[in-house]
Amino acid sequence: MKLSDITRVCVLGAGTMGSSIALSFASHGFNVDMFDISQERLQKGFHSVEASMGILLENDLLQKEELQDISGRIKGCISLQQASASRFVIECAPEKLELKQDIFQDLEKHFPEDVIFATNTSGLSPSAIASKLVHKDRFTASNFWNPAHLLPLVEIMPGECTSPETLRIVKELMEKIGKKPVVLKKETLGFIGNRLQFALLREALHIVDSGIASKEDVDKAVKYGIGRRLGDTGPLETADLGGTHVYAAICETLFKSLSNSGTVSAILKDPAENGDLGYTTGRGIYEWTDEGLAEIQHKRQQTLIDLLRRDREE
Ligand code: NAD
Repeated sequence: MKLSDITRVCVLGAGTMGSSIALSFASHGFNVDMFDISQERLQKGFHSVEASMGILLENDLLQKEELQDISGRIKGCISLQQASASRFVIECAPEKLELKQDIFQDLEKHFPEDVIFATNTSGLSPSAIASKLVHKDRFTASNFWNPAHLLPLVEIMPGECTSPETLRIVKELMEKIGKKPVVLKKETLGFIGNRLQFALLREALHIVDSGIASKEDVDKAVKYGIGRRLGDTGPLETADLGGTHVYAAICETLFKSLSNSGTVSAILKDPAENGDLGYTTGRGIYEWTDEGLAEIQHKRQQTLIDLLRRDREE
């Protein structure tokens, strides 16, 4: 299989991630078979694609003349036979190991052995997902970040049997659709992004738990401090800019004081157990009003759009 052989892809599952990934491929000239288990789910998927296209259009990230072609490239299907011309399949079904294992076992009956399979799993082991496959070398995890049409990162993580060739082709495919892929050298829990994100969350919870600062001030310190720099320099580049000697000395003293807790703080666990799930129920760690939520979501989306524009200018 060569990268140039992939002109048609199958996105399996037309939910939050699948619909957005379908749009990412279609807006870069790929034909897409968007599969789901019912016409109703597919319809929901197409509505999400339209809504996302509307946002890209409003912000000049897509032009009006392109819309019809992009929509025309996405074909819905509820049977895998209709998707059999696809040369790359990405699975975006619910995060359940057995379901994903069965899906890939079934996919192998419908696609020739050189077709590349990927899972968008956020946290399951790719080796475990691939365990029922005969040709495990053509399988990898490729985790898009949400919303996939606005965030450039895709984390590609091999399973035990993934071939270097599969990793190379998937990386180049992601670059072809304007993404910024990273390729992990081996399987690990949480990829790179969630390991870093949850290391920060653990320390944020620890600071509040230990009475060092309020939750509001912890969030403020990130939003107006390190968060502003992280868009341009990752933590390792930041260390070089600060001076390795300075950062090494800080690590010597500070690391011992940071949380290494292996349990979930009550700040997060209590509301989760009481049904206070965050914005969806109006209360989590904070209280949420509809207006407050709309404002923060708009602001967050606008920042992603501004950064995407900047990427395109670079
Ligand atoms: P979702 O619930 O929005 O969508 C899942 C879709 O899969 C639904 O449309 C459902 O009908 C369909 N589906 C159910 N059974 C199926 C089957 N047998 N074959 C094909 N499709 C089937 O879920 P989502 O948020 O899009 O998540 C999909 C995957 O992406 C999960 O593995 C999730 O962990 C991962 N992920 C999610 C996010 C996120 O923020 N939502 C981010 C990164 C990765």
